[in-house]
Amino acid sequence: MFRQRAVIHHIQDVTQGSLRDTCDGNHIRYTIFVNARRIVTASCGALLGASIVITHAAFVRTNAFSITFIDVGQGDAAFITTPSGRQILIDGGPDRSVLRGLAERMPWWDRHIDVVIATHPDSDHVSGLIDVLERYRVSYIFDPGVAHDTPQAESLFALVADEEAQHVLARRGQFLDFGDGIRLEILFPDRDVSGLETNAASIVARVIYNDIVILLTGDAPESIERYLVSLHGKDMRADILKAGHHGSNTSSSLHFVGLVSPEYAIISRGCDNTYGHPHESVLETFARFDVSVLDTCTEGNITFESDGQSLVRR
Ligand SMILES: [Zn+2]
Repeated sequence: MFRQRAVIHHIQDVTQGSLRDTCDGNHIRYTIFVNARRIVTASCGALLGASIVITHAAFVRTNAFSITFIDVGQGDAAFITTPSGRQILIDGGPDRSVLRGLAERMPWWDRHIDVVIATHPDSDHVSGLIDVLERYRVSYIFDPGVAHDTPQAESLFALVADEEAQHVLARRGQFLDFGDGIRLEILFPDRDVSGLETNAASIVARVIYNDIVILLTGDAPESIERYLVSLHGKDMRADILKAGHHGSNTSSSLHFVGLVSPEYAIISRGCDNTYGHPHESVLETFARFDVSVLDTCTEGNITFESDGQSLVRR
């Protein structure tokens, strides 16, 4: 598949001319510079097990860790800031409404986002990213490598190439280290998903800040939830679960929610959606496990702050 080859080629190009040493038989470490900032990338055999350590903030800020589930109507967008000023955007919603949410969370002069994760190329997740890339410089953009044929997805990936953001194929085993004890782990895909239906190819990631875990599942369906449970068992526990597929009954299965056992479930959806999101059975599942459900339709932007031990709703 063309785009996948292009990504791998790009990474190989990046490594050429970089400082390079061998960690062991399968591990290679690279040091590269991007925009005058030192970026250390360690890769463990092909793309699996890769980690990216993002250091040297351009502007050191001392905010608390926060995550905002931005009210983008029927779609997903979540924005994370770290105490030392790293910024991560997971999906961009269906339109430019994501920009309003970002403007509320970012200093007016800031035109840079460290990492964008496009969980899958459906327009309710990536169309707004076109506006984001037009307004902000982005260092890294992750996508699952699933086939896409929408004009929005084509425009997005053309912009990624134009802006020289580093385009990374997301694979299980990669993690991003943002400092301050904060890391983002890619849990899925763990394979080539180019031929999968787009929801099933969704990037599933979790953000870990000391004791606090936030699980972000894109539109991953029940089959992927089952697969993750088979891999992780009770290790799926999280404090916040971004409910898969906007609260549809294709996600948030009973067994999965029971193991994740979140304190909060976030349903990101438009009030006027015609899909019946959230589904009654999903709300019943959350009620059964005493999970507090927060819905962007009724709450607007939903923000939590954390010190790594506890979560506070803002
Ligand atoms: Zn969606």
